[in-house]
Amino acid sequence: MEIRFEKSKTLKEKPDQTKLGFGKYMTDHMFVMDWDQGQGWHDARIVPLAPVELDPSCVVLHYAQETFEGLKAYRTADGKIQLFRPEMNARRMIRSNERLCMPAFPEEDFIEAITELVRIEQDWVPSEPDTSLYIRPFMFATEASLGVHMASSYKFMVICCPVGAYYETGLDPVKILVEDELVRAVKGGTGFTKCGGNYAGSILGQVKAEKMGYAQVLWLDGEERKYVEEVGTMNIMFKIGGEIYTAPIEGTVLPGVTRDSMIRLLRDWGYQVNETKLSVDDLMKAGHDGTLEEVFGTGTAAVISPVGELRYKDDVVVVNGGATGELTQKLYDTLTGIQWGRITDPYGWTRVIA
Ligand SMILES: *Cc1c(COP(=O)(O)O)cnc(C)c1O
Repeated sequence: MEIRFEKSKTLKEKPDQTKLGFGKYMTDHMFVMDWDQGQGWHDARIVPLAPVELDPSCVVLHYAQETFEGLKAYRTADGKIQLFRPEMNARRMIRSNERLCMPAFPEEDFIEAITELVRIEQDWVPSEPDTSLYIRPFMFATEASLGVHMASSYKFMVICCPVGAYYETGLDPVKILVEDELVRAVKGGTGFTKCGGNYAGSILGQVKAEKMGYAQVLWLDGEERKYVEEVGTMNIMFKIGGEIYTAPIEGTVLPGVTRDSMIRLLRDWGYQVNETKLSVDDLMKAGHDGTLEEVFGTGTAAVISPVGELRYKDDVVVVNGGATGELTQKLYDTLTGIQWGRITDPYGWTRVIA
């Protein structure tokens, strides 16, 4: 792929690495490529970050034909920059696009676009402990037309922003509300894709949880509202009686890269990992009879998010005394160790790019 580069005339001042937060400071450049019916992908370019001009009738604004990805570039102690399993994101985006009738963006081009952009923006990759450069590839329909159909033009873009340490003072357990009314996904729907529409439909649940003093929503299956599926932006795992339980990837749950990596680590450590349906009743029962040992969410942003409390209707369970579990901590230390190059990567998950 040939990428045209237009350097920004004015480079922004880099923000304070100890006050980055999440998603606030975009870097100087972005990757853009266009797709048109008949022509396919063309005009790969890295250009100064700027607003996108869209016709008001543009398909994405009305029918939400949009997919995205999220991954990070990590600064290692010796100053190098590495990615973590970017091919998983590339392949997942192809599957998301297939479901939304959007053109596939080839895996090699996806990785090349990210690699080149991060190389250009390498001074933006922070070096403070646990900070990283968050990379957001996304694609949307640009055709100007109000007809509902597969669009004749799309844009693929990548933007980046330095993000702060998710935990400043060690892992911090959150309280989670099991949502028993609204649902996120059903079989045959778009639950397994990373599309903006899934998020639009989930905000009401999030608002409801926050009003009740809970940080996140735990979604149940869309058909029976009986089996636990995932948390807002994370997959979720339960340690019950020494074994791990997590929802199977059967069309409604997002196949997380972090989930997949954790399962690999856990199995290598000798844990029985059950990718199986777990009912919320069995979960709450385990919470009361003392067999529920640890609960944690998994996702790129936080890596792991320990759960200290679960509420389902009027029933409340405190997990591990509200503290971070031993296994949760070990998973966090191991995965972040591999990502930031503090420990050797026996899996070939990391890829040094600069
Ligand atoms: C992105 C995402 C996850 C986590 O996936 P990772 O690849 O581990 O970051 C989990 N659930 C949903 C709904 C997501 O959008």
